[in-house]
Amino acid sequence: MTRVRVRFAPSPTGPLHIGGVRTALYNYFFAKKNNGTFILRIEDTDKARFVEGAEEYIMESLKWCGIIVDEGINEGGNYGPYRQSDRKAIYRQYADMLIDKGDAYFAFDTPEQLETLRSESGKAGNTFIYNAAVREKLNNSVSLQETEWKEKLDKGEPYVIRYKMPHNDDIHFDDIIRGHIVVNTGTLDDKVLFKSDGMPTYHLANIVDDHLMEISHVIRGEEWLPSLPLHIMLYRSFSWDLPLFAHLPLLLKPDGKGKLSKRDGDKMGFPVFPLFWPYGETAKGYREEGYYPDAFINMLALLGWNPGTEQEIFSMDELIEAFSIERVGKSGSRFDPEKAKWFNHQYLQYRYNNQLALEFREFLRARGHHVDIIRLETLIGLVKERVSFVKEIWEQTDFFFKAPETYDQEVIKKRWKENSAALLRELISILEKIDDFSAAKTEPVIKTWIEEKGYNTGEIMNVFRLVVVGASRGPHIFDIICWIGKEETIKRIGKGVSVIGK
Ligand code: GLU
Repeated sequence: MTRVRVRFAPSPTGPLHIGGVRTALYNYFFAKKNNGTFILRIEDTDKARFVEGAEEYIMESLKWCGIIVDEGINEGGNYGPYRQSDRKAIYRQYADMLIDKGDAYFAFDTPEQLETLRSESGKAGNTFIYNAAVREKLNNSVSLQETEWKEKLDKGEPYVIRYKMPHNDDIHFDDIIRGHIVVNTGTLDDKVLFKSDGMPTYHLANIVDDHLMEISHVIRGEEWLPSLPLHIMLYRSFSWDLPLFAHLPLLLKPDGKGKLSKRDGDKMGFPVFPLFWPYGETAKGYREEGYYPDAFINMLALLGWNPGTEQEIFSMDELIEAFSIERVGKSGSRFDPEKAKWFNHQYLQYRYNNQLALEFREFLRARGHHVDIIRLETLIGLVKERVSFVKEIWEQTDFFFKAPETYDQEVIKKRWKENSAALLRELISILEKIDDFSAAKTEPVIKTWIEEKGYNTGEIMNVFRLVVVGASRGPHIFDIICWIGKEETIKRIGKGVSVIGK
């Protein structure tokens, strides 16, 4: 294979969608697998769509995902600059080359004139296409005499440069994922390559940069497939070698009907962006929701690519090793928010308790609780299997840190009996005699007491938990009382008895 050089080429128009992150990942896997180079190129030629903060967001997202950029704005490289607005001076000469060859032309039609043509066609039930069929009748250097259009240029009349799409030509090309494709140029329009603001359009800048940056494989989203025939034509006009193309299938909504959008996430409560987006209309991010980056990329990697085995958990290195474009499917992949949580659950289970204790300690600190790390480690051991996120540890353990202020009424109604208060008072007297409060010590003592007295285990344990926890949830009760200690346990039982009843 030729030297592998791939690029991720986002436009800084807002937060990076997870579909874009997946494109970046597949490019990265492919580059690393083939000892190639991963390039980050910022495509910001469309000034109207530029959004402040988006470029930094893109870079931070890649960093959070563990994607290491080899060449880019911050990294440098021999093919820079890597931001298209910094390459502005490069593009014009290529547009001129096409004009000289007769493959492009100046067009002077004003936006208002084009709008009139569009609406007239619309009224007649047609779609206006600027192409070979109409170009001779419009205001451009094909239809006008040379003296006329040169005069317009001299006078500084605004113009764009359009590609002169041949009239009726079959374009044949190949896509690694889609196979062989044939498109007739009759369906295509004379796309603008160079705008009146002096900037190239996406099409021209993208092709010129892919060529100058010696990109070997263009791996990008399926939404760019309709642009590919034009791109192929441009390569031919320039007589440049083509890179290989791979167009990735879409990420679909959870119901499989259409492209996954921010609205789906808002409706169903999941993020569609890697990081929180803080500007304007804010948006949730996987990072802030508590996802681990390795779980996030593992989940994303499997949306569209399959390893051909049952394996689901892959580290970054394993993904790089296992990845191949040939195993990327043609059809869209349905995004499953539950599966995303499942991945985080798995990754949380793999973490050592002492690591989780450190992460949870940060969470507690923010809430004013300062707890010894060893004690936290024990606590995590009790609830780890039930949680998918560090923040859920709190939901499972809040009562460890504070005595219940209320008691679940349903549980009281169902479990609190005539003799419950008396039994709990007796329990206090038993517990008072135990010094070692480990579950291994308290459990047999209590069980023996219940047995000897002929009490009902369920009746006692249910109200015991109720007064300690405030509800019927939580891990093994003897583990709970060990952690909160003798004094606190007795205090909670006493309070429960006095609040709930005699
Ligand atoms: N700038 C385009 C985007 O925003 C790049 C498409 C391509 O990779 O060619 O996705």
